[in-house]
Amino acid sequence: MSAAHGYAAQSADQPLTAFAFERREPGPHDVRIEILYCGVCHSDLHTARNEWHNTLYPSVPGHEIVGRVSAIGNAVKGFKVGDLAGIGCIVDSCRECASCRAGDEQYCETGFTGTYNGSIFGGTENTYGGYSDQIVVDEKYVLHITHDEDQLAAVAPLLCAGITTYSPLAHWKVGPGSKVGVVGLGGLGHMAVKIAKAMGAYVVLFTTSENKREDALRLGASEVVVSRDPDQMAAQAAKLDFIINTVAAPHDLDALLNTLARDGTMVLVGAPATPHPSPNVFGLMLKRRSLAGSAIGGIRETQEMLEFCARHGIVSDIEMIRMDAINDAYERMLKGDVKYRFVIDMATLKA
Ligand code: NAP
Ligand code: ZN
Ligand code: ZN
Repeated sequence: MSAAHGYAAQSADQPLTAFAFERREPGPHDVRIEILYCGVCHSDLHTARNEWHNTLYPSVPGHEIVGRVSAIGNAVKGFKVGDLAGIGCIVDSCRECASCRAGDEQYCETGFTGTYNGSIFGGTENTYGGYSDQIVVDEKYVLHITHDEDQLAAVAPLLCAGITTYSPLAHWKVGPGSKVGVVGLGGLGHMAVKIAKAMGAYVVLFTTSENKREDALRLGASEVVVSRDPDQMAAQAAKLDFIINTVAAPHDLDALLNTLARDGTMVLVGAPATPHPSPNVFGLMLKRRSLAGSAIGGIRETQEMLEFCARHGIVSDIEMIRMDAINDAYERMLKGDVKYRFVIDMATLKA
């Protein structure tokens, strides 16, 4: 075992504080990564505060991890010491079920091992995430970074916000000619706008924050709709083919479903702590609309997404923070005061 340092929540109502723990030594197939940057996902906050009622404490969040390989096991083939590497939300899975064999480890039938808050396979030991100085992961679950090294911090959020939006956009075959709605301009939403635009779609951004209009247009939206304005919502009736809804709080789905054309689909990726009000069945039935969900993405697709983003010059818009500013960052995230992803500079943890 080797000494690791990070930041952890010890309970739902305590701020995150410095935390010392241990990582395993790299086994034959493992890669050790010195973590340079870690993005701050709203799921980190949900977990640290036990909003999904499943948190194992102490909880070290962070699943948008980028860094440099500092050690490898003797059977590792895909990485060498000094390589840049990324870790997303998944660090292991059963590798045998139909979902794992299909490369959809996020739907592993026995449950994938989360980068944090995931019991290690065959046991109950908690996993600790990227708000830390190093991590050890089987190379099968480690991503290659092809962006320029000077973009590394802004690549980190692709490991969750990027793949969580890319995967449903790809699954529902968004492309040139698609009219796509993106709901919520936060970490996930701003990536959805950039990726849908790069796929060739016409993007309509739905926001509760009028002051995000200019940014949304700059990021690639063609239209911006303030979702609290019934007239602006009515003007979009039956116009969209597909909607990706990233909102982290319960809200009225009917007003959004009503903007879907016949056979349109709204996919929910936001994961609020309490349910949305149930949608009106007639709104779905009378235009054969679908309401769907989607979880992150598999390892192969995450690699594909990273390469797609590198080719299209896509990274996240980030605000770099110190590790000890994490509790303040959570409060700002709750107020929607982040443009558009906090990324922790892990050098500040050592300092
Ligand atoms: P975020 O940066 O906080 O963005 C969420 C956005 O939702 C906000 O910027 C805001 O956008 C909008 N919003 C917030 N509260 C709202 C309210 N009460 N009513 C309407 N809109 C509201 O969060 P994130 O990191 O993008 O994560 C979003 C959600 O996705 C979280 O629940 C997270 O846990 C979940 N998630 C799911 C997956 C998955 O696999 N499905 C993966 C990662 C994250 P506007 O200001 O534009 O309205
Ligand atoms: Zn996440
Ligand atoms: Zn599996």
